[in-house]
Amino acid sequence: MELIKITKKLFLVRCKENKLPECNIYGVLYSKGSFLIDCGNGFSAKEMIEKFRETKHPITHIFLTHCHFDHSLGAGIFKREGIKIISHINAATSLKEEIFRVWYEHPEKVKPVEVDIELKKEEEVNIEEMKIKTIYTPGHTSGSMSYLIEIEGKRCLFTGDLIAEEGELPWAGSIDFNMEKVISSLEKIDKIDFDYLFGGHWYSLKDGKKWIEEGIEKGKRGKWKIDKSFKEYNLEEVKK
Ligand SMILES: [Zn+2]
Repeated sequence: MELIKITKKLFLVRCKENKLPECNIYGVLYSKGSFLIDCGNGFSAKEMIEKFRETKHPITHIFLTHCHFDHSLGAGIFKREGIKIISHINAATSLKEEIFRVWYEHPEKVKPVEVDIELKKEEEVNIEEMKIKTIYTPGHTSGSMSYLIEIEGKRCLFTGDLIAEEGELPWAGSIDFNMEKVISSLEKIDKIDFDYLFGGHWYSLKDGKKWIEEGIEKGKRGKWKIDKSFKEYNLEEVKK
């Protein structure tokens, strides 16, 4: 596991290959610690906690973009270390009830997680000097949230799996997936002034706005490839 520096205070956490898909995990440093955007599937959780402690910025909070397991399955491990978990209320319900967080055929294989801060409306969450603006962007799931954070003068928008590079549609097989909502969420974030776009599996320091506009265009013209394919994973390994 390594921390890849994007800017002085913003890191991409690169996890070791493991048996489950993993999302992009971003670490943001602030005066007294750090917080993550998504926390991954959990295989590298303990190492991650250690690594951030070494930087003298221990992880204190995790902002989840949504409930899919490649983004959130590790949440319980972080929570047991006293790290606060934050998500939209619908994602929190999924995490609590163990539905469609994992492939929903296997709810028995993971433990529920209680989210500490459930976001019910769009609001600003302050972590010391950092202001995290929460933007409700449903579609990929009903509990999908985006986060706008100014980091070293750059407005960074974290969008989870709302849109992929070049305006492509990420996996669309969630039971609460809604394409119209993806399009209206894209139109919503298109109005936001931002510099960098950080997605759940890709990021761009220059083409983010273009990807969003391409996404709206493709979505409205029915040009998206809709991938609802379903792959089974062995989740026994993460049942800790
Ligand atoms: Zn997802």
